[in-house]
Amino acid sequence: MASRRKLVAGNWKMNGSLAANGELLSALQAQLAGFAVADVAVCVPAPYLSQVSGLLKGGAIALGAQNASEHASGAYTGEVSCAMLKEFDVAYVIVGHSERRALFGESNAQVAAKYAAVLAAGLRPILCVGETLAEREAGTTEAVVAGQLDAVLALGANTLAGGVVAYEPVWAIGTGKTASTEQAQAVHAFIRARVAAASAGVAAGLRIVYGGSVKAGNAQALFACPDIDGGLVGGASLQAQEFAAICKAAA
Ligand code: PEP
Repeated sequence: MASRRKLVAGNWKMNGSLAANGELLSALQAQLAGFAVADVAVCVPAPYLSQVSGLLKGGAIALGAQNASEHASGAYTGEVSCAMLKEFDVAYVIVGHSERRALFGESNAQVAAKYAAVLAAGLRPILCVGETLAEREAGTTEAVVAGQLDAVLALGANTLAGGVVAYEPVWAIGTGKTASTEQAQAVHAFIRARVAAASAGVAAGLRIVYGGSVKAGNAQALFACPDIDGGLVGGASLQAQEFAAICKAAA
């Protein structure tokens, strides 16, 4: 099995303030001092990129954004381009989060266009895929995830070499209901096999992280699964001690 460095990325969603961000990050930096066995990132709201970029400078925690436009520039009021993100030393960009798909109507095609734009800017996309509860109960989990993944695979299997996939069952996000290790591992293995059908080499090196109510108490069991390469963490990433404990579970 290829050795893949684990990644734990926090998704602050639409939370934070100048004061709270400073406190959270200095506590997190203290908790993670000397921790170098996994990659750690925080994906922050766009207005805080400048502040957080400054606070993280020279340290081991990477900066991430939660969204990016698929367009390079122009008349797209309210949007943020990948080139703008790059100016703030952003390393990772979440694309296709289920909240963006459900609340802002992002289609598989649009998410793939965003993925391509992020990659073209030299940044690392974190592609979110995952089924709703109704889709799981209807037995269509693999079909849904395959459709989301295939839109990006259609850009060429090599595009996945530069990114990360996050399997985030929608029913587990912000609900306190985590997928069991068996459920999560099964979908992660499915994703890896689907990528392997296009390129075995890319699949072996691809980081597939799990998201959905990850906490300090369940992270270790999830991260120990053979195809789970870390986590995308929402609510728990807003608490320094809890998030640091999750990062350490990836060691
Ligand atoms: C997320 O927002 O990507 C997420 C996984 O949220 P939570 O950890 O709160 O379920």
